[in-house]
Order: sequence, then structure tokens, then C-alpha cells
Amino acid sequence: MGLLPWALAAGTAAWAGYGLGAQLLAAEPLRRGPAGRRRVALTFDDGPDPAATPRLLELLGARGLHATFFLIGERAARHPGLVRELVAAGHEVGNHTWRHRNAWFLTPRETV
Ligand SMILES: [Zn+2]
Repeated sequence: MGLLPWALAAGTAAWAGYGLGAQLLAAEPLRRGPAGRRRVALTFDDGPDPAATPRLLELLGARGLHATFFLIGERAARHPGLVRELVAAGHEVGNHTWRHRNAWFLTPRETV
């Protein structure tokens, strides 16, 4: 048997182990709010998007709803008008990295 199958198996195991470890070490997400208060937080990631963001603004605005938009920095720089529209409509804007990269392919230091 050649070295390639062993290398592929070792690489696959290391990749799966890294992903599982990251899940186990992550902070516990908030799953419940105060009893007796029925609320939902709406969040949207990876924008702004010239097609989706105006549509979301329209849908949320028609219902008087607000959301938090976690934006990709380089996309926000490309579409500053959309960012201004989000803020003007009363939505919160959060940081979702400058350039979205797939975290599965990053080292722990690169994900910080
Ligand atoms: Zn994302």
C-alpha cells in the first residue's frame, strides 16, 4: 500500500478532529431568554448584498421589525449606501470579518 491513502486518512482525521475540538471548546450559545417574554432576535450574516439587502429592508420595514446585520467589511466598502440604509432604518450593524474565509481551512490563530 502506498503512502497516499495513509496521508489522506491522517489528513481527514486531523481535519475532523480540529473541527470537533473547535465545537467542543466554543462558548455555549444562548438558547433561552427570560421566561414569560417571547422574543426573537433576527440576524443576517455575510452582507450587504445588492440583491438581498434591499429586499430584507423592505420586508422588515413593512412589518416594523429591526434586525442585526453582521457585515463583511470588504462588501460594506463596496456598498456603503446599503450600510447607510441599514443604519438609517434603525438596524444594528455588526462586524463579520473583513473578508469571509471558510473557518474550516484556517488555523486557530487565523480565526481570531
Ligand atoms: Zn458568514
